[in-house]
Amino acid sequence: MHILVTNDDGVNAPGLLSLAQEMRCLGQVTVLAPDRNWSASGHVKTMHRPLRVHEVELTDGIRAFSSDGAPSDCVALALLGLLPEKVDLVVSGINPNANIGHDVTYSGTVTAAMEAVISGVPGIAVSLNSPENHSGSLEYGPAARVARRIAQTVIERGLPPGILLNVNVPYLPDDQIRGLCVTRQGLRLYRDSLVARADPRGRPYYWIGGEAPSGVPEPGTDFGALADGWVSITPLHLDLTDYRSRDEIHAWEWA
Ligand code: MN
Repeated sequence: MHILVTNDDGVNAPGLLSLAQEMRCLGQVTVLAPDRNWSASGHVKTMHRPLRVHEVELTDGIRAFSSDGAPSDCVALALLGLLPEKVDLVVSGINPNANIGHDVTYSGTVTAAMEAVISGVPGIAVSLNSPENHSGSLEYGPAARVARRIAQTVIERGLPPGILLNVNVPYLPDDQIRGLCVTRQGLRLYRDSLVARADPRGRPYYWIGGEAPSGVPEPGTDFGALADGWVSITPLHLDLTDYRSRDEIHAWEWA
């Protein structure tokens, strides 16, 4: 079993280290992650500049690789032949914040797992629903142990072709996590606002700011599960077709 571990927060992020350490209990692990933070970078394919890969050392002394590409580039590099050994599973994370609802297309963590699926390899994205105003270092242990349990199940059962698992873990000690719950995407409520200012030369610049997003805690959804203390496992596919409106829109007079 050869597991590729990546993330979108950069190769030195503590969530990546916790995840890699747990994945080593399941097989051979290769870490290839971006050399900087790519959070909210979406699904990227770098085509107009070369990609560089460097060997680095994680803080536990284990050898890893970093690249100047996006998370999805890291997965593509690994699966297209950078690594001599075949990769059986890609696990991405652990992101310090939840990736739920509409977050999934923004998320570098989730789009790394999407890239795996495009290459026919099972992918799992793992995010921690840490509190918004948390200061100091986060405790990734419980989420890493959840990730190991889910990865073990995926190794045993496989995933249907084209499917990735988007896992979100509540920020709770092991014994307070209620269990694992298979969910659907819920509704994120974004509270973005545009900040317009002037630079020192008087030219305008813009910054997308605002408060952290909220969500609708509807039962059966990712956000609902987290709100009740459950681990949310959402199976995702890349087919964004809306089958419900297809017939209706087909019936419009297109000719
Ligand atoms: Mn991130």
